[in-house]
Amino acid sequence: MGITIKSSSELDLMREAGRIVGLAKLGVSNAIKPGVTTRTLDEIAEGIIRAEGAIPSFKGYGDPHNPFPASICASINDEIVHGIPSNRVIDTGDIISVDFGAIWKGLHADSAFTLGVGSISEEAAKLIDVTRLSLEKGIEKAVIGNRIGDICFAIQTYAENEGYSLVRHYVGHGIGYSMHEDPQVPNWGMEPGLGPLLKEGMAIAIEPMLNIGTYRTKVLSDGWTVATDDGELSAHFEHTVLITTNGPEVTTRL
Ligand code: MG
Ligand code: MG
Repeated sequence: MGITIKSSSELDLMREAGRIVGLAKLGVSNAIKPGVTTRTLDEIAEGIIRAEGAIPSFKGYGDPHNPFPASICASINDEIVHGIPSNRVIDTGDIISVDFGAIWKGLHADSAFTLGVGSISEEAAKLIDVTRLSLEKGIEKAVIGNRIGDICFAIQTYAENEGYSLVRHYVGHGIGYSMHEDPQVPNWGMEPGLGPLLKEGMAIAIEPMLNIGTYRTKVLSDGWTVATDDGELSAHFEHTVLITTNGPEVTTRL
C-alpha cells in the first residue's frame, strides 16, 4: 500500500468520518450499563453511523470465509480486540473495549475506548486510566518531523513504568482510503528517532493495548476474538490522528 499523503479535501473527509465515529462512541458509551448485550451496543453504533450517511467499516471485513459480522468490536475483560457482538450480557465489574470504524465518501476513521461497567475494581480502573493516557503520550509525538519510533517509545515507556505490558502482535496503522495502510504504528519495541518520518498530510491510527499480565495473546475459537494468554485484564484506546502544521489533530474525539 505505501504511505499516502492526503490532500486538504481528503483530510476534510477524514474529519467528517471521525466526527461520525465520535457520535457512535458517544451513543454507545451512554448505553454501556449492566444488563445490556453487546449486540444492542452494536445496533446502536450501526444505527448512528448509517443515520449520518456513513458506512460501518468493520462489517464484512477480513477473510471472505469468516468475515467480521458486526459494526463494532466488543471485547470484555481479558479480551483485547476483535470481540464479536452477541447475546452476551455485560455485568457490573466488567470492563468492555469497543472499537468503531466508519467510512465517509471513501475515507476512514477508526477509534476505540475501554469503559468500566457499573462499579469496577481499582485495579481495572487504573488499567483503563493508564491506557487512555498512554494513547495521549503517543499522540503528543505525532508531529511533523518526528518518526513512528517516537510515538512507540512514548507509549511503551509510560505504560511499562506504570507496570503494564504492551500487546506486540497487534499494532496501529496508517489510515485513509483503506482502514489499514502503511506505516505500521507499533506500541512496543521501537527506538525514538527511528522508523518512518511523519509528514504533513499523513493520517495514522494510534492504538495502545495494555495488559495487566503477559503481553502474549491468543485467538479464540470464533477466529476473531483476541484475548490475553493468561486471562488477565486488557484495555485498548485508539484515535485517528492527522499530521498537520498545527500539530496532531485527533478526528475521533467523543
Ligand atoms: Mg480500531
Ligand atoms: Mg485500528
